[in-house]
Amino acid sequence: MSIDFEKLFSDLDNVYKACPDLPCIKCGICCSSPHLSFVEFCYFLDYALRAVSQEKLIEIVSKEPEPSKRLNGHIECPLLEDKLCVIHGGRGISCRYIGVPELSAGYGLNEPLCPHITHENMGVKVTVDEIENALDVLAGYNAEIYEYLSEPYYLDALNLQCWFAVCLDKNITQPLFVKLRGIIREKFDLDFLEPYYKNTTRIKEKLDLVDRFFEFNEQQKPQEARFCMEQVRDNFPNTGAYYNTQSHIYIEFMNSLINVVETDPDNRPGSDKGR
Ligand code: SF4
Ligand code: SF4
Repeated sequence: MSIDFEKLFSDLDNVYKACPDLPCIKCGICCSSPHLSFVEFCYFLDYALRAVSQEKLIEIVSKEPEPSKRLNGHIECPLLEDKLCVIHGGRGISCRYIGVPELSAGYGLNEPLCPHITHENMGVKVTVDEIENALDVLAGYNAEIYEYLSEPYYLDALNLQCWFAVCLDKNITQPLFVKLRGIIREKFDLDFLEPYYKNTTRIKEKLDLVDRFFEFNEQQKPQEARFCMEQVRDNFPNTGAYYNTQSHIYIEFMNSLINVVETDPDNRPGSDKGR
């Protein structure tokens, strides 16, 4: 597939330029490994391969991620050095909006995620609608390249470490990820990272469990399917938020199926019906 990256990056520049200039004091406390959609990861790579040292990129693909001290279920951002972002111009949309007070509610904290940006000092008013519109535009760019947010993998975004795993781990054989790896590796020379890559996210195992979930579901084995999805939900902290929403939805659905089987008198042990 041929992608006009020049146009894509120029379109992304426009989306990023429309983001507000927030009064961030660069304390770094909101920084956890950013989740980037596919096109944003390409933009990030384009920027990083020019602006960030090879040593830093090698560190990202080889170092075990650290759990975030502030955000449960997230990992520390490897691009934060001395409270400064080493990839500032190439950062994704989540990093550009993160200090907006309206977004704090989604992080499960009792206080605002950013203690420094308030409605009063923001200067410009930023609405949730505006942020959602920007995300929709990005979703549209991704949807031109692959089946965005579709079953079975629902790929809208991955954290940085998972994206590098997709690029470098040839054991990841799910067709969607093979396709995206092919696009990235054709465009960007990442050969220098290959000898250093370590499987720190285990995203390959997570994707295999997603596959097994669908197989069990096909075979009408809801308990086995639920078990797979519970592992997807609980056992992969370094994959960030990937598949969290879907795992909750699927577990709930499997619970409802199991409940139907357990409460249907025709399916109770000893029933003659349905045999
Ligand atoms: S957005 Fe807020 S919390 Fe994040 S670095 Fe800036 S001032 Fe600190
Ligand atoms: S990419 Fe930069 S702005 Fe975003 S979380 Fe990392 S250090 Fe912070």
